[in-house]
Amino acid sequence: MPKIYEMSPHLADLIAAGEVVERPASVVKELTENSVDAGAGSITVEIRGGGMAEIRVTDDGCGIAPEDVETAFLRHATSKLRTERELESIGTLGFRGEALAAIASVSRVELLTRERDAGEGTRLTLEAGERRELSPAGVPVGTTIYVRDLFFNTPARQKFMKNDRAEGAAVTTAVARLALSHPEVSVRYIRDGKEEYHTPGDGRLQSAAYCTLGREFARGLLTAENKVDGITVTGYVSTPGAARGNRSWQFFFVNGRFIKSKLLQAAVEQAYKNALFTGRFPVCLINIAMSPAAVDVNVHPTKLEVRFSDERKIFDAVYWAARAALEREEGPRELEISKSTLEAARGGFTPERIPGGRVFAPEAAHPGKKDAGDGGFFSRVSAETYRTSYDKGTGGFKTAVRPVSSGGSGREDVLRDSGGIFQTQLRMPAGGREMPEEPPAAPREPQRSWRLVGEALNTYLLVERGDSLILIDKHAAHERILFDRLKVGSYTPSSQMLLTPRICRVSEESAGVLLEEREFLAGLGFELDDFGGGSLALRQVPIDMDLSDPEGMLEEIAGKLSTGGRRDVEAMRDGVLHTVACKAAIKAGKRSQPEELTGLIDSVLSGQVKYCPHGRPVSVELTKAQLDRSFKRA
Ligand code: ADP
Ligand code: MG
Repeated sequence: MPKIYEMSPHLADLIAAGEVVERPASVVKELTENSVDAGAGSITVEIRGGGMAEIRVTDDGCGIAPEDVETAFLRHATSKLRTERELESIGTLGFRGEALAAIASVSRVELLTRERDAGEGTRLTLEAGERRELSPAGVPVGTTIYVRDLFFNTPARQKFMKNDRAEGAAVTTAVARLALSHPEVSVRYIRDGKEEYHTPGDGRLQSAAYCTLGREFARGLLTAENKVDGITVTGYVSTPGAARGNRSWQFFFVNGRFIKSKLLQAAVEQAYKNALFTGRFPVCLINIAMSPAAVDVNVHPTKLEVRFSDERKIFDAVYWAARAALEREEGPRELEISKSTLEAARGGFTPERIPGGRVFAPEAAHPGKKDAGDGGFFSRVSAETYRTSYDKGTGGFKTAVRPVSSGGSGREDVLRDSGGIFQTQLRMPAGGREMPEEPPAAPREPQRSWRLVGEALNTYLLVERGDSLILIDKHAAHERILFDRLKVGSYTPSSQMLLTPRICRVSEESAGVLLEEREFLAGLGFELDDFGGGSLALRQVPIDMDLSDPEGMLEEIAGKLSTGGRRDVEAMRDGVLHTVACKAAIKAGKRSQPEELTGLIDSVLSGQVKYCPHGRPVSVELTKAQLDRSFKRA
């Protein structure tokens, strides 16, 4: 039996250091957390050589008393925890008393510190955990810690370090997490002599996000809030359009501590279900404030993971915060309208200037509204009364327009869609005259709260509702509607047998995947087999699909079947259905039937459809107030 010895404190520190101090970023995390615990109002982090050469953290916190300076570097020495009971309700970021000991054991450390009311401060240097110098020093209030030559005495560990750039990037992330978890602290970060960011410390999460993560990040954020059962969720989630290809922009904080949590990730992502395509991840900054007793932070030495006593409750609180943010969202609020956009909108009014020369308006929108202004486009629109009916005989809409204000020219125009689909009558009789009766055969459309003004660029529907002009991307909206229907199975795409099979040449890899998943695809309305020579014979497709580019479509489907390692059947199904929806949806740039559009507009305006399956918005709203401002009418 070999003899058993107790480890020397230094050896124990070295071993413990492996857990707490993995890389420069972990040193920065521990030091900055100590600064926050010390009540700092501002913290400066400076690194050189990715943090391997030097890390310096300076704060204006409470400082350390001369007699405690050495103790602070002992293992399990802390000022934050005294009794077992206090472990239940930790209010500080640190409490294990390990970090300084661990950091000092694997580097050269210099500490300068002074308490607020003390006449002078203290300087202490250590090397590989051994004390070198200790002396009084004239230093500013607060604490500065230099950590140099990290892992100089543990070459094995040093070998695991990535290059300076990668280590530096990890430090950048660590500092950002701290700044985001404590917006009330001003954080300045300098990397190799260059200031990377400096947060104002104004207590606003948005300011911290703007400074650390950039303008692009801070832009597409929606406020997410929820308060239930002693759990307060605050923060932001992104619009689906601002989603990203990975989760690196998902931040979760519990009681001011950055954490990693699969549970919270799932809660947020669940809220985006079907608003985002597989492989796209929402961006979020989620803060959870809750009783410290209901969350165990002492699960791991780095405290990056926590355990919630009631996971279901936390999940729901976060899910509903995100969900509600998305529900509330009705397109970008602050829309910048460029001059050219406005000009296009102005130009769009004149029927002759709409591509295809068509205007139609399925419903009486705002009868009786008075024209207030100079006859500018938007006020003029709302000052007219429209009546429209769908004529079965001609298969077109008839629209009568009568200005409510006097001064109608009495001119009577009939606009005919060149494709023969739309027949729009634009009548402008003199004011006061009754609207001509509709032909008796024409059934009346149900009363709607909106009016289709027209279609711009064969892509965007212009719809007026209340005091707003809503622009709808018809392809995106239709794609979304089809996808949702396919998804819930309420709409099975009836297949169409192709008269002659389409022979499609696709890549060998795609052909392999498609043939392997033949049965799966058959369930979704596709029939295909091997035609030999690297080609596939496509015999049947879901009925509405556009087959102008069958090869491109098959490649796309193969791509979707391959993502996620073909284990996630739901993701595969979503992927293919999405392609079906996309290929069956009304194309942008193509003429549309008015019947197709009515239901579509209803769905969009009722709020059922907000994003296409890629997460792009399907509509943009311009309020009259916004437009008035732009035209300086306000
Ligand atoms: P812990 O943070 O878990 O208490 P550390 O090893 O990180 O353990 O720090 C040990 C102690 O040193 C802390 O409890 C605190 O009293 C003191 N300390 C560390 N950093 C600072 C700082 N920046 N300002 C004031 N006191 C500090
Ligand atoms: Mg600490």
